[in-house]
Amino acid sequence: MSELPQIIAGNWKMNMTLTQGRKFIDTLASGLVGKKLARKLLLAPNFTLLSGLVQGCADIGIGLLAQNCAFQDAGAFTGETSVAMLKDVGVGYVLVGHSERRQLFGESDDLLRRKAQAVSGGGLVPIFCVGETLDQRQGGEAFEIVTKQLRSGLDGFPGEKLIIAYEPVWAIGTGQTATAEDARSMHVHIRKFLEVQFPWGEMVPILYGGSAKPENATELLAQPEVNGLLVGGASLDPESFLQIALA
Ligand code: PEP
Repeated sequence: MSELPQIIAGNWKMNMTLTQGRKFIDTLASGLVGKKLARKLLLAPNFTLLSGLVQGCADIGIGLLAQNCAFQDAGAFTGETSVAMLKDVGVGYVLVGHSERRQLFGESDDLLRRKAQAVSGGGLVPIFCVGETLDQRQGGEAFEIVTKQLRSGLDGFPGEKLIIAYEPVWAIGTGQTATAEDARSMHVHIRKFLEVQFPWGEMVPILYGGSAKPENATELLAQPEVNGLLVGGASLDPESFLQIALA
């Protein structure tokens, strides 16, 4: 689906203070002056930075992406953040099911389905993350695992606005990138699933994530099936984020 506009989303994880975040946006803004950017940029700062960065991001056309949310609307859920709260500060997109949430915080398929539904129901766009572990890939189960994550996470999905991020767990933060062919074949698999599942499945951007960096961005983004990148480590440096955006 090369006609879908490509998206470059940066995931800052639990990094950056507000001061550092503002400096990042200023540097990025200077770097974008005079450049024609064909791709949509999104940034996922920590919750505490969202309201402080919303204006700076809007000024240079960057969308705000939250790293997580609760599925509940409101109430006695100490430490949680609702979709309505995120929307209220100007967030447009929410990561759901990042492998760190699945693995380190035990987020289940059932919980992630509820979160995806809450995000969509609240008028925001989920970036639903899927991906296999190294053991699963070596055991020949990668396609089956990703199908299972999609099937359970998107069961009863209520909206038509959705982004998928294919992030092989073995490539996240490891410096080990999937080959362009690994990414391409999984993206084709995901596209088929989406087209069977949803009448609008062909319109869903499918991003690749896993040690994407300036050195490999051009090759990954040249695959017609890759509609953009979800970038962790390399998104912490405005120069490398910019190089990826312009790759
Ligand atoms: C991520 O956290 O989504 C990610 C892809 O990280 P990295 O680029 O550092 O592998």
